[in-house]
Amino acid sequence: MQISATLPARFRQIGRAIVDGVLPPRCLACGVTVGEPDALCSQCWASMTFFAPPWCAKCGLPFPHPMGEDALCAACARNRPSWDRARAALRYDKHSRRLVLALKHGDRTHLAPALGRWMRRAGAELLDSADLIAPVPLHWTRLFARRFNQAGLLAHAIHAAGGPPVAPDWLIRRRRTPSQGRLGPTARARNVRGAFALRGGRSIKGKRIVIVDDVLTTGATVEECARVLRRAGAAFVGVLTLARALRAGG
Ligand SMILES: [Zn+2]
Ligand SMILES: [Zn+2]
Repeated sequence: MQISATLPARFRQIGRAIVDGVLPPRCLACGVTVGEPDALCSQCWASMTFFAPPWCAKCGLPFPHPMGEDALCAACARNRPSWDRARAALRYDKHSRRLVLALKHGDRTHLAPALGRWMRRAGAELLDSADLIAPVPLHWTRLFARRFNQAGLLAHAIHAAGGPPVAPDWLIRRRRTPSQGRLGPTARARNVRGAFALRGGRSIKGKRIVIVDDVLTTGATVEECARVLRRAGAAFVGVLTLARALRAGG
């Protein structure tokens, strides 16, 4: 009994060793050979900008100098988004863009565990007290064409790295929205207005939820999702993205 119970795991180990032996691990971003699996080469590592404190208490925008634990950036002092706190692992730039596109286009889904670990670390303040992670949903027609949702992959990877459980289908996309890619901030907000809803029968009241997405640019998409959760009575709404765009010089 004992032998048969341990055999599959043993086979998996051997299989893994064979795969590792034949295919040396590759850098997650550029593909050069590296010493260990799920890692970046030293050049890519140096080119990525990982966010770290000191940062805005609300949105995680990095500050050049320590400003005090509760300090807010100018945008957070001015605006009142529907979410409570946002964090991102990486600055969205031409380097991190390679990771985002590789994940989105599906040929490199093996990236997800490493990215999930980075997001788990960057979002620790949000995740440690959260009840659920809710990935930003795709419209079902897009999901059908692409077969997976990159935000969902990241959410599951964050959970696997020690994060809270995933609520994969609590948020739904009611209508198919054109890609946000070429739109300005106002058009983006209009494009996604009313696009999301909470699936029937799901109770959010009093829960602490973290919305997960791959990239935050203007924040229009997560704002809409946060509004839905807030309206449904969420006690806390966090936003955690793999990457976040900053304005030049910001
Ligand atoms: Zn590399
Ligand atoms: Zn801020």
